[in-house]
Amino acid sequence: MDENRIARTCLKALILNYNPKEIKFNWASNFKSILDRSNHQHLWKELDPNKLYSSKTKITDTIKTLLKNEDMERSQNSLKHYYGSQLAGNNRLIDITSVPFYKLRIFAQVRLNPGIFYLRGEKHSLDHEMNCKLCNLDSHEDLFHFLYECRVHESSRSSLLSNLVCDEISRDNHLNMISKLKPEDYTYLYDFVTTCLKRRKFILEE
Ligand SMILES: [Zn+2]
Repeated sequence: MDENRIARTCLKALILNYNPKEIKFNWASNFKSILDRSNHQHLWKELDPNKLYSSKTKITDTIKTLLKNEDMERSQNSLKHYYGSQLAGNNRLIDITSVPFYKLRIFAQVRLNPGIFYLRGEKHSLDHEMNCKLCNLDSHEDLFHFLYECRVHESSRSSLLSNLVCDEISRDNHLNMISKLKPEDYTYLYDFVTTCLKRRKFILEE
């Protein structure tokens, strides 16, 4: 890259002003901290794009593992986890060690924050005060409608329903039913919710 190009000058200034305490405001500092944490400090000295690119997967995998371990440690040390693991049988809280975090996140959003989902950085809000715009059932678009009623999502619903332990699902008991799902069944809920949210967004923004 030409030494006088503005991008090059900015990069140099960012590198010169490296400050580990201000990684929020300096992406070069942020990048260096990622290299440090993933044991790739040597790449910082050369800043060779080819070497950086070929190490990309290794760096991101190391950081992912590090973050996961940190999360695990935090949760293992939390009182909630401690009390949760003391409960027996059906009362036992989620065994978070066996479920990926991105699936747990959706499970938690269904249970605790019905109608608002954050999926890959995007917010999806069901409009529970308005009639559903996707189907003609004349029903409010609340979580129950989204999960069990809406005709637009019917084709994706069978694997979810076959995994819920319930004879009759109603607005009153459906969150209870979700809470009883076994960790190994979270995949069905995750797949269903994410597929339907994507479909909903596509239709509404079409
Ligand atoms: Zn609908």
